[in-house]
This record gives sequence, structure tokens and C-alpha cells, in this order.
Amino acid sequence: MRGEVLIVGGGVAGCAASIALARKGRSVTLIEREATPRHKVCGEFLSGEALEDLDALGIEVTSLGAVPIEYVRLAAARRAAEAPLPFPAASLTRKALDTALIAEAIAAGVRVERGSSVQELSRTPGDVWQATLDNGATHEAPTVFLATGKHDLRGHSRPKDPQQWVAFKMYFRLAPAQAAELADASELMLYPGGYGGIQPVEGGIANLCWVVQKRYLPHTGDRWEALLARMQKDCPHLGMRLAGAEPLLAKPIAITHIPYGYVRRTTEDGLYCVGDQAAVIPSFTGDGISIALHTARYGVAAYLAAEPAPLFQAKLRTALLHQMRLAEFAADGLNNALARAVLPFCLRVWPGVMRVTARLTRVVQDADVAPQLVAS
Ligand SMILES: Cc1cc2nc3c(=O)[nH]c(=O)nc-3n(C[C@H](O)[C@H](O)[C@H](O)COP(=O)(O)OP(=O)(O)OC[C@H]3O[C@@H](n4cnc5c(N)ncnc54)[C@H](O)[C@@H]3O)c2cc1C
Repeated sequence: MRGEVLIVGGGVAGCAASIALARKGRSVTLIEREATPRHKVCGEFLSGEALEDLDALGIEVTSLGAVPIEYVRLAAARRAAEAPLPFPAASLTRKALDTALIAEAIAAGVRVERGSSVQELSRTPGDVWQATLDNGATHEAPTVFLATGKHDLRGHSRPKDPQQWVAFKMYFRLAPAQAAELADASELMLYPGGYGGIQPVEGGIANLCWVVQKRYLPHTGDRWEALLARMQKDCPHLGMRLAGAEPLLAKPIAITHIPYGYVRRTTEDGLYCVGDQAAVIPSFTGDGISIALHTARYGVAAYLAAEPAPLFQAKLRTALLHQMRLAEFAADGLNNALARAVLPFCLRVWPGVMRVTARLTRVVQDADVAPQLVAS
């Protein structure tokens, strides 16, 4: 099969790019390996920039049940501090978001093929990209958007994750008093070896998503209940939130290999890398979805302006590097025992620090490729 643009991966970045391209009259095929959207490891926090981009794509998160998030709380050891978020934010399950994005792509005229995964992506002697699927079919296109998120394609891999992060997500029905206390806040909890976030999502439940370095796992025998028990001991605030909570999945979903801080340096002609394939920001910022949408929009603008993919990738790197390094610096601070001990106290005295950090780790929107340009 041959087309104009092939998009590999139908998550946030792939769907956003496909919708924008289809609305500009391009013929687009999108290949997504899952037959239907599934739960993904994600804190499901939607920052102000993400909300703006989603709105421009025609995704009304409020009608999907998104919960407005007004506050951020930081808890470490026995202390917790709270600050109002300096931008609008919401939370929505990835299942609901990804379902809406795929539906919007189909409505925009994208040819969506679900339930097949791309096994190989290579350049043919005729200078087009050829994707070989697990069912043996092949697709050819002069331009490909690589949007496989956390999953690397052979031959296009990102570097290893030296800290060997492992990430988990679990839904809980909190005890009524705890749900009322969590209210409209996103809570970030610190413990040795990682951090976790809990926040309400639609349906009256809460998402607990956490990361931990692999070397902290063996002490708890790899069992998630034991790991969670240790996290609650190290961060009693989490213990309080989960007291009497009912886990809603048989076990958490988990992923490994998260190369935090990665920003792709270069690419090949005709291959625009977007979303987590372009950059991976530390999760505590809650900005990955925003970056996925942002890089998709930039990629589409570059393609439409006939900007070569290697130039796009280099410019994107320059634009993201500052934010990425700041986020990494802050993440290192969260992982530091002394910082864990003093941070909540400092923030209680000066909640402005939290607001400033939140602002500095946001992706900067460029007027040239504002979200409105992709609106239908
Ligand atoms: C622990 C953790 C917590 C996070 N919390 C937040 C948060 O609260 N807020 C936030 O904004 N960001 C968060 N993020 C980041 C966010 O989840 C990602 O940055 C975002 O999902 C990236 O979007 P994407 O489109 O690149 O990838 P995805 O949304 O993951 O989509 C990739 C798609 O490609 C498909 N695919 C993969 N391989 C193939 C293949 N070979 N062929 C066909 N299809 C394929 C997959 O099935 C998937 O649907 C978090 C990340 C982690 C690890």
C-alpha cells in the first residue's frame, strides 16, 4: 500500500499529527498496534498547554468527564505543602483520551489501521519509507511520522535508560474522607528511589502512578504490594491516602526503559520523530502529553513548509533542551535525601517556588505554530 504520509503509533502524538495533516488535505495512514485503546502508564495530568492543544484538535475534555485540577501538593517524609497551580489543568484517563483522539482522526479522514504493529521501518532503494507489519503487509510513503511513544522500533532506538526506571499505574477507589481531602489536587509524593503522583480522574476514582529505580525493587521482592507498603512507610501521606482504598485493577500496569531527559539529536530524510520518540521529560512535570502534542504540531508545520526532517529535529531539540535540562535538574533534587527532608518545609514557607518550577518546566509555545493553526 502506498500513501502520502504514514504515521506509526496512534497515541497522543500520532493522532494529533494525523488530524492536523488530514485537515490540511493530506492523505494519511495511521497504524496503531492495539486494536482498541487500553490503559497506559501515565499520571493522566493534562497541563494548560495540553488542554489548549486538545481543544484546537476538537477534543472537549470536559465532555469526556475530565476532572479540573486546581492545586498541587508535595508530600515527603511527614510533611506536605500545597500551592495553587499557576495554569488551568485537568485529569482524564488515557483510555478516554486515546479513544477520543482516534475517533477524531477517523472523522478527519485519516485511514486508521488498528491491531497491527510495525515491525520494521526502512528506506527503499527508491527513496521511500517502507513499513513492514506483523501481518506481513507493507506500507510505503515518502514521509513517516514516528510516534511509537515508549516503544522503540528496531533500527530507530533511543539510548538506554541508565537509571533503569520502572513505572507503575494503579486505579484506586479511595475511602470517602480521603477522596474528599484529595479533592481537586494533584499530589506528588517523594520516597527513596523515586516519586509518585495521585490525582482524581473521571468516574470518582484516583490514579496512582509511580516510578522507582530498578535497584530499589529487589528489596521488596518485586511484589508491587510490598513496594507500595514501603513507599507508604517512607511517605506516610501516601499511607494516609490509601488507607481503606480499594485497588481497581488486578495488578498495576508497568513499563520499564524510560530514558528521561532524552532529546533526539537527528533523524533521516522524511522521518519526523514526535512525542516520546522526540523527547522524554521527567514524569513529575506532568508535561509529556503537552510535549507530544507540541512536537506533533511542530512536525506537521515543518512538513507542510517542506522543511527537511533532520532540520526539524535539530530545531526541535534546541527548542526543548532548556526545559528538559531544568526538569532533569529538578528531578535530581526530588531524588536527593536532603531535598526530600527540607522541600515540603521550604514550600510551606514559600509556595511560590512550586509555581516557578511549574512554569519553568512548561513547554514554550511558538506563535508560528500556535494550536489554533490546526483547528478544524
Ligand atoms: C510514569 C509516567 C507518568 C506520566 N505522567 C504523565 C502525566 O501525568 N501527564 C503528562 O502529560 N504526561 C505524563 N507522562 C508522559 C506521557 O505519558 C507521554 O509523554 C505521552 O504519552 C507520549 O505520547 P506519545 O504519543 O509519544 O506516546 P503514546 O501515547 O504512548 O502512544 C504511542 C502509541 O504507539 C503505539 N505503538 C507502539 N509501537 C508500535 C508499533 N510498532 N506499531 C504500531 N503502533 C505502535 C502504542 O500502542 C501507542 O498507542 C508520563 C509518563 C510516565 C512514564
